[in-house]
Amino acid sequence: MSNSHISFEFFPPQTNEGVEKLTIARAKLAALNPEFFSVTFGAGGSTRDRTLETVTQIKAEGFDAAPHLSCVGSTRENIRAILKTYQDAGIHRIVALRGDLPSGMATAGEFQYANELVEFIRTETGDHFHLEVAAYPEFHPQARSARDDILNFKRKIDAGANSAITQYFYNADSYFHFVDECHKLGITVPIVPGIMPVVRFSQLARFSDTCGAEIPRWMRKTMEGFGDDSESVQAFGRDVATRLCEKLLAGGAPGLHFYTLNQSAPCIGIIEGLSL
Ligand code: FAD
Repeated sequence: MSNSHISFEFFPPQTNEGVEKLTIARAKLAALNPEFFSVTFGAGGSTRDRTLETVTQIKAEGFDAAPHLSCVGSTRENIRAILKTYQDAGIHRIVALRGDLPSGMATAGEFQYANELVEFIRTETGDHFHLEVAAYPEFHPQARSARDDILNFKRKIDAGANSAITQYFYNADSYFHFVDECHKLGITVPIVPGIMPVVRFSQLARFSDTCGAEIPRWMRKTMEGFGDDSESVQAFGRDVATRLCEKLLAGGAPGLHFYTLNQSAPCIGIIEGLSL
């Protein structure tokens, strides 16, 4: 595959040691010539400064950096200030999200859904930013129905999003079905599959319970069977993810976005294993 269509996602590290580890991981992933590195944004803006620090560091290393920006719990004034900071820092791509309110935070702020954020960014900054939005091939856990969720996804595209990155999934058919349904609605923007390498089963199971991404029974049972044998879990996970990526690319996926969890080895293992 052309490496120009790979992207890698990080979370902003909390400690100096985390920053050093991420710098090393990033240097290894940079060798694969990704299109951009994205950096997540903690719920309710909790990582605002660390997200900015991480994207600034990535820019200084000469790579394209895409901060995630979630709007729930924020005011227009807050978001306007963040956009200005990113414009001043020479950032040209944002992953625009609703986000989830941290438990205990009661106010929803001035934005309810991500389509409102996309619209606001376009009104405030015109075409300065390439806007990515989230897509859910297995549907967002709060969606009233599959149909509603796709129509809500379309609102983000109609508001001016340029492309989408999906929640992770292990069933390629869910992605192909989602893309087909989008095409029927006239959505033509690239929808890039998000790939979650399997590193630890317990961690993956926890993430999946929260975000509604399904771990197929055959995968769950196989990994449960490995118990504490982490090498076997990782080898199995690498094979599953590599085959999934091959199937997605062969079926027309426009690229791959990796949820790195700030580690380079699992992603490199998958990409080097691709036989396309
Ligand atoms: P939306 O697109 O607003 O959708 C949220 C729900 O509301 C869906 O059920 C949708 O069907 C419904 N909905 C949408 N619009 C409307 C409307 N106008 N009327 C009625 N219903 C509507 N979270 C973070 O906190 N930080 C991150 O950095 C982060 N990065 C992510 C990156 C990717 C690629 C993905 C896939 C997710 C990421 N998330 C992140 C998680 C995301 O914030 C959550 O999944 C959140 O619950 C939904 O965000 P969204 O932007 O998809 O919301």
